[in-house]
Amino acid sequence: MSLNSTTTDWERQRLEMVERQLYARGIRNPRVLEAMRRIPREEFIPPQHRHLSYADEPVPIGFGQTISQPYMTALMAECLQLQGTETVLEVGAGSGYHAAVLGALAARVISVEILPELAAYARENLDRTGCGANVQVVCADGSLGWPPAAPYDAISVAAAASDVPPALLEQLKDPGLLVIPVGPSWEQELRVYSKRQGRVYIRTVTFCRFVPLRGKAGWE
Ligand code: SAH
Repeated sequence: MSLNSTTTDWERQRLEMVERQLYARGIRNPRVLEAMRRIPREEFIPPQHRHLSYADEPVPIGFGQTISQPYMTALMAECLQLQGTETVLEVGAGSGYHAAVLGALAARVISVEILPELAAYARENLDRTGCGANVQVVCADGSLGWPPAAPYDAISVAAAASDVPPALLEQLKDPGLLVIPVGPSWEQELRVYSKRQGRVYIRTVTFCRFVPLRGKAGWE
């Protein structure tokens, strides 16, 4: 990949990523596939790593953080079964890419980021790509959720915790779905918490590896 790649080149890489990394591994939700065919992931990656925009791996975005592997973003989005009417909370805006994907699938997204530099970076990326009209980026400790816009139809956590932060379960609607990596720093389970009729059901989807969740209910 050269530095003067054309838009067409990016588009080709994006379509290939959707075929080979998402569809081939079982992502079938048509709205998720469509969103990821359309959103320019390369615009959410720092210039020095841009050639890795469609690589099958997490990519550094600065401050020791990473944008998740495309498959992980797709899988997490698919787990939330969004129809387009929901209000979604994301914890860990990072580059803003995952928030853009959620924004394409839901009515409204609140994405909380603890690092001010990355909150600004996410906002910038969302605005530049025109993907952020229904996405609000908030700089705060998302391990406590974001009470002003609660409750949420769905919650997506992009950093690993030792257990699901209680505030997030409290701020989840009934019915509602929450996806989060749970476990120690070296490996976690990706879990879906489903709140239904006053009960919470837990399902493990796969193993994964995320950066640690900081903050009051994280690894602080
Ligand atoms: N969803 C992002 C990936 C983010 S990586 C993307 O698509 O690019 C995880 C992010 O979570 C990092 O930016 C990190 O700073 C942030 N984070 C860690 N702990 C947090 C907390 N308690 N509240 C909010 N953000 C947090």
